[in-house]
Amino acid sequence: MSKTKNNAPALGADYSAKMKSRYAEKVKTSAKIYSKADRRENRVVENMSDEAQQESQQESACDGHCLCGAVSFKIIGKLRPVVNCHCGQCLHTHGHYAAYTAVEKNKIKFVNDAGLKWFRSSNEARRGFCQECGASLFWERLGASTISIAAGMLDLAQGVKTTGHIYCSDKPAYYEIVDDLPKFPQSSDGELDGDL
Ligand SMILES: [Zn+2]
Repeated sequence: MSKTKNNAPALGADYSAKMKSRYAEKVKTSAKIYSKADRRENRVVENMSDEAQQESQQESACDGHCLCGAVSFKIIGKLRPVVNCHCGQCLHTHGHYAAYTAVEKNKIKFVNDAGLKWFRSSNEARRGFCQECGASLFWERLGASTISIAAGMLDLAQGVKTTGHIYCSDKPAYYEIVDDLPKFPQSSDGELDGDL
């Protein structure tokens, strides 16, 4: 008999399911938008104007959490496309290159920050991690209006796609970048949307 069968489900998974049912909003491809209130009443809002649909998508919600749930948060707002960072600091924090999205700081609300610790990784930035499970969640330039979020922490990616690679000059030899997305030796200096 496998060990895991006797164990309770992982806290993170359980937490994730709870958070999903509590907060997730679904935007169906049919353009019928289900809000939390609509689901409660089991009805559908139809024929939304393009403008209203856009607004709704921009304000769409997304949940994120670390492996154990001691850091969990909700994002209400538009996520930046994902940028893969191959810098030495990301490699040593994440164990591999890092895939980060980003959002305005005022769009992230912590549901639980009991596990959140910050590490001052350079003169310009700090990195947020979970002191319980060790997950690397955030990168934040000091004084910036945005916060970068490791994309794998998010339950719902809002259709966000990866748009490129930065700090490729730091990439170690054990892997290759095999896609055709733009590659920058260092920062893209804004050429990738929102990457500065
Ligand atoms: Zn954790």
